[in-house]
Amino acid sequence: MFKEQNAVMSTYNRFPISIVKGEGSYVWDQNGIKYLDYTAGIGTCNLGHRPVTVESALQEQLSKLWHCSNLYTIPHQEQLAEKLTANSIFDQVFFCNSGAEANEAAIKLARRYAQKVKQTNQYEIVTFKQSFHGRTLATLYATGQEKIQDGFAPRTPGFRYLPYNDFDALDQLVQEETCAVMLELVQGEGGVNPADQAWLDQLVKLCKANDLLIIVDEVQTGMGRTGTLFAYEQYRIDPDIVTLAKGLGSGFPVGALLANNKVAQAFTPGSHGSTFGGNPLAMTAGSATLEQMTSSSFFPELSKNIEYLWLELQTVCKQFKQVKGLRGKGYLIGIEVEGQAVDYVHRAREEHQLLILVAGPKVIRLLPPLTTTKLEIDQFINTIKTIFAD
Ligand SMILES: *Cc1c(COP(=O)(O)O)cnc(C)c1O
Repeated sequence: MFKEQNAVMSTYNRFPISIVKGEGSYVWDQNGIKYLDYTAGIGTCNLGHRPVTVESALQEQLSKLWHCSNLYTIPHQEQLAEKLTANSIFDQVFFCNSGAEANEAAIKLARRYAQKVKQTNQYEIVTFKQSFHGRTLATLYATGQEKIQDGFAPRTPGFRYLPYNDFDALDQLVQEETCAVMLELVQGEGGVNPADQAWLDQLVKLCKANDLLIIVDEVQTGMGRTGTLFAYEQYRIDPDIVTLAKGLGSGFPVGALLANNKVAQAFTPGSHGSTFGGNPLAMTAGSATLEQMTSSSFFPELSKNIEYLWLELQTVCKQFKQVKGLRGKGYLIGIEVEGQAVDYVHRAREEHQLLILVAGPKVIRLLPPLTTTKLEIDQFINTIKTIFAD
């Protein structure tokens, strides 16, 4: 029987296995049992485990320099920032270490833009119910879920929640102190809820008309997860700020804030910082990851596999009555089930060596590596059919 070490604080409900090795779409536990990993480290290992190009780039950098602080220019930051801006609508990048830290930076930048550039007293950011933006004191109150906020009063001021995909609620969007809107285009942790295109278009129109910044949290949807490098491309919108983390370093911790010039000018030397942000190792992981994703065959290949997996899943949905619905975008997929989603997750792991996730009590969440092969997809589909057939 596995025992959690008492010296580690119990902030997680952990499954009773330890992962000791990973390669591609597979991981191995302490007993040498091999699992198909359709969690991809909760959407971080988008190129699978230890992608060769990222591993060799990191190994090379390991023998040169790990850290030097932001007192000096770091060419690795310039390289990754150039790659990110060349492949997006943005002009400038700030680097940090996690999704919450990227969203903190976005909140600070939006407020500072309102106060220093627009010269107003605006500070409020509208976010949405069922959203997830992180666990720091600002981002947990940006998050529209009470369970995340339980026991952490007093509330960090400056956030107001509206229901997601609700046209009527948009009437309340703009108030005197509002400076920005922050949202996920597919709510990940909150149940895999994609934004409705018509609702989003209406939201964007209101933001533009009232000079509110649009912050898109692409911590989970970014880095190819939904089938394009960024999800905003598919929705054909032009946010002012996008935040990234999870997939950016292929599992190496790194976060980023991308902004257009208009907004980025609000940060000046001394206004924001992060000791580890943009260190040479993290930047190397990010550059090697982006290099692979921007090769000409990457997204065409990915689109074919995404289409294949969705077609197979749609068949599964029709076949089994305990499946209530299928939603998401690309490889961020939610399967709504009858009964507790976590029961399926346990059975998949224990009886079929398949790792999957939940998003709320009723939804199974799949986050396959973007590099998963057609053969692995077949293996997954056969397994999920066996589980639903039991
Ligand atoms: C995971 C996640 C975060 C938080 O990222 P951390 O790296 O855990 O701080 C923020 N927003 C979204 C949409 C996420 O999925």
